[in-house]
Amino acid sequence: MSPTFTTAKTSLRRRFGLLAPYLPELVAIRHDLRTALQVTVPLVGWPVEGPRLQSFCDRAGLTLEVHTRGGSQKAVISRNGLGVVPDAGTAGEAGRWFSYPTCCVEAYTSQGPKRTGDDFVNRMHTLVVDAPDRIDFRLNPFLRTSPFHLFKHFPCSLGCEATTELAERTRAHLERDLPELHAALQRFGRSPVLFLDSCGRGLSLDSARSDQNASDGLAYEAVFTDGDPTAQLGRSQRHTQEDVDQFLRIQEALATGDALTLVAGTLHILSDTDRVATFERPDGRVWKVLDFW
Ligand SMILES: [Zn+2]
Repeated sequence: MSPTFTTAKTSLRRRFGLLAPYLPELVAIRHDLRTALQVTVPLVGWPVEGPRLQSFCDRAGLTLEVHTRGGSQKAVISRNGLGVVPDAGTAGEAGRWFSYPTCCVEAYTSQGPKRTGDDFVNRMHTLVVDAPDRIDFRLNPFLRTSPFHLFKHFPCSLGCEATTELAERTRAHLERDLPELHAALQRFGRSPVLFLDSCGRGLSLDSARSDQNASDGLAYEAVFTDGDPTAQLGRSQRHTQEDVDQFLRIQEALATGDALTLVAGTLHILSDTDRVATFERPDGRVWKVLDFW
């Protein structure tokens, strides 16, 4: 039986620790698709994490540089060392250190200089509203904090060519360097996503068949999410506790069901064709099933 999202994530976490969610970036650095990545580790965790990161870098032929900032350590990983703390504050710098496409960085920074949770929430909302009917799975933006993604930045659109090109080059290297991760990434990344406009998060439907659609009934085997919206709530002015509560109730109902229909803002969740639960979309929210191919 193929591993569930949680099992696959836990097993990589056990093997790679803190670096598990950065595996695609590490492979990209190794193959010169990207200059560096930066991991923030609280000072209190450093005595354990520091030696682990060092040992990983030694084995992988990468360079670890550490800078203390405030109450944390900035661990910078690159091929040959940078000598500075990379700064993602401007479009040019983010492009230089993290290889984010210029079109995407400009789209993100044009939202204003202040980085808040609202940026994340509003950006995901805009991306979903403007999304094509079927999205290339390599552009799936919902798995960015798990190991199963091909880019970490906010794309300028879910059809961005520069991101697709970068994602494809990373994918090809992952297929050779980490074939198990690559297989899991293809499966999870192609899972349709139920977007509920709750703090920018989505609910992925594992093993749902892509030839079905949400108005006729979409069958699935399991539901998973890369991020609980609760963590974003304190940073989002657009959302309330009710939004998050509804997201969690829908996630729970989906876990007991095996199919859903979404028609005009009404979501039915079914199990063996019996109705398990019904939810109504709140005013002003976008609910959508996104199909990845
Ligand atoms: Zn772009």
